[in-house]
Amino acid sequence: MNERMRHAVRQATEAGLDGLLITPGPDLVYLTGHRPPVTERLTMLLLLAGVPGPAPTTKPALVVPALELPGDQPDLEVVAWPDGEDPYAIVAGRLRDGRHAISDSAWAMHLIALQEAAPGVRYTSMTATLPMLRAVKDEAEVALLAAAGAAADATYEQILSVRFAGRTERQVAADLARLLREHGHEQVDFTIVASGPNGANPHHDIGDRVLREGDMVVLDFGGLKDGYGSDTTRTVHVGPPSAPEQEVFDVVRAAQQAAFEAVRPGVACQEIDRVARQLIEDAGYGEFFIHRTGHGIGLTTHEPPYLVRGEERPLVPGMCFSIEPGIYLPGRFGVRIEDIVTVTETGGRRLNTTGHGLAIVG
Ligand code: ZN
Ligand code: ZN
Ligand code: ZN
Repeated sequence: MNERMRHAVRQATEAGLDGLLITPGPDLVYLTGHRPPVTERLTMLLLLAGVPGPAPTTKPALVVPALELPGDQPDLEVVAWPDGEDPYAIVAGRLRDGRHAISDSAWAMHLIALQEAAPGVRYTSMTATLPMLRAVKDEAEVALLAAAGAAADATYEQILSVRFAGRTERQVAADLARLLREHGHEQVDFTIVASGPNGANPHHDIGDRVLREGDMVVLDFGGLKDGYGSDTTRTVHVGPPSAPEQEVFDVVRAAQQAAFEAVRPGVACQEIDRVARQLIEDAGYGEFFIHRTGHGIGLTTHEPPYLVRGEERPLVPGMCFSIEPGIYLPGRFGVRIEDIVTVTETGGRRLNTTGHGLAIVG
């Protein structure tokens, strides 16, 4: 068994689980490197746990459709099922009664069929039970996240010189997507261009509003490069900002900086959120900071750890997450600044390094 699977079994055993049921998606990629198509034909990795002591000697089983055999998988027992056979009966025959965590992205049709085939098994969600499974990145993963961040940064540097005034949000968003791909992203997950009053909605869906002189514009974009995520936000202004706009911007900038400086091993996730929120509250904008301060990133662009009130788990070197405080003023504008940060032994290191100043665009 490879080290990641061994670690997963250890975590599962500590969490009182009898096994992990992994369907295609980020967990399966993380544990095996296998990226099958996501379809109605069941693919499932069975990692059985619950036996304290040395790691089990039997190989984990990968149940796969016979027409989708994986490449070389020396750590796995590949169990192929042909069309016409019942894959759920195969899985049920290998499970003990007890608690198993199943991938969050497992299709309901697969889970329901399993519940019928193995009525003694209880199911729980992976993220609810093992939220930290992929949260601590190894050196190679941090390097991939840094490269994705650098590509997003290059995208931002270039977007500053495109035309904003007189073009629609949709057109600027298309520029962002094109630039992300030019800088090596194979997948673009989001290109938020939220101008003027639209900026007050943190996840504004791009529209056909025409940008004009005087607009604050929130640019939040990211995706996957070589399998790892980027996610950065900068707020720019079309022409010179007003004094109140600059004031709100400066509060968000200070909150982002203070939260970043609070990052070090052992600090609770919620503390980073508290630091950012305190600063925004003290400036009188507390009610307009309407989301958590950050989220983890890795094989997906949103995953644990979450920097949110109530999350008491400590920061650990290798964790990678966003720090993205914002202020959203209904009917007026929004401001958000977001960097991906990794935890080192001595503090935080930013994986996005473009300037934090309010850039003026044309
Ligand atoms: Zn303005
Ligand atoms: Zn973002
Ligand atoms: Zn984000």
